[in-house]
Amino acid sequence: MSDFKHFEYMEKHRYEQVVYFYDKTTGLKGITCIHNTTLGPALGGTRLWNYASEEEAVVDCLRLARGMTYKAAAAGLNLGGGKTVLIGDPDLVKGEGYFRALGRYVQSLNGRYITAEDVNTSTKDMDFVSMETDYVVGLEGKSGNPSPMTSLGAFHGIRAALQYKFGDEDISKYKFAVQGAGQTGYYLIKKLVEMKAKKIYFTEINKKHIDRLKKEHPDVEFLEPKDIYGADVDVFVPCALGGSLNDETIPQLKAKIIAGTANNVLLEEDIHGNMIKDKGILYAPDFVINAGGLINVYHELKEYNIGRATRDIEKIYDRLLEIFKIAERENIHTQLAAKVFAKKRIETINNVQDNYIKR
Ligand code: NAD
Repeated sequence: MSDFKHFEYMEKHRYEQVVYFYDKTTGLKGITCIHNTTLGPALGGTRLWNYASEEEAVVDCLRLARGMTYKAAAAGLNLGGGKTVLIGDPDLVKGEGYFRALGRYVQSLNGRYITAEDVNTSTKDMDFVSMETDYVVGLEGKSGNPSPMTSLGAFHGIRAALQYKFGDEDISKYKFAVQGAGQTGYYLIKKLVEMKAKKIYFTEINKKHIDRLKKEHPDVEFLEPKDIYGADVDVFVPCALGGSLNDETIPQLKAKIIAGTANNVLLEEDIHGNMIKDKGILYAPDFVINAGGLINVYHELKEYNIGRATRDIEKIYDRLLEIFKIAERENIHTQLAAKVFAKKRIETINNVQDNYIKR
């Protein structure tokens, strides 16, 4: 019997709702967590994972849902934070029935929660979900693959960080080390090449991705994964997995800026956020700089227009400058400043809306 105290945790972090669902026909087993809907419906993808225990699944879902609240708030979107996790083996083929069953549970929340693809679920799966609910985004033929937009947002974030740190955002004057050349890393490298970056190093563990880059961009130099941290560059660009910046890797960094697409880059937010700050490195908070994909998908809720979405993604630049200033003024690490910024927006809108207006 798990001793995880659900209500204590919900109370501490102010969650609104946790829903467990099980479909007897398809074996679909999952949890949807809604953290906060002050700004709008909770939006967050559906993650399929072979969790070792139900406790691990619910804790992951709760944590990810809370992260989405901050991400949407900091991105200036009228969305709250939510997430769904499905407990199951991603290698076993899930079919139409499985994802339509999911769609029915999403629909049962009547628009309080909107889902999308996430780890181990695809836009094709979401097409099945959409047969049963209106509350799903990231569909094929609409806003499409979010990765190029995530990379575009990160590119604007890099510009903002260069401007703040060096007072000059001319990409051609700087050297970059990109960790991970999968979807987002690949598009970001392409953009940096296009902007004539002085030097780009990259690392990867997937041979297919290494070969693709070497073929398309022969001037972009490959480094072994262990050597990327110590590369002689101005900007370290994390685009791989979370937790890559920790006690072991931070001391190796020569870069003065960390700005990329990866989520949860800091292994321990406070410890490593402060460690980076103390080294005089400017860290672009992950959930702010990598919000391009979310901003893009948000536009699908209205009538999708790539021009409008692109303009909104560009605003990541100003948002980061504001967060860097808060961090400096309050003498706190930038990841914490980003949370202060997001919470402030939620609080303000909550207060603005506390008088009754008939619409
Ligand atoms: P991806 O899987 O396409 O790319 C990640 C790449 O990193 C892979 O090619 C993998 O081989 C490589 N990698 C893993 N460990 C590595 C290591 N130790 N050294 C070098 N390379 C390594 O994923 P993605 O969609 O590009 O996402 C990358 C990061 O960005 C993730 O943290 C993800 O959560 C985050 N993110 C992505 C999006 C998006 O739109 N795709 C949006 C927001 C955040």
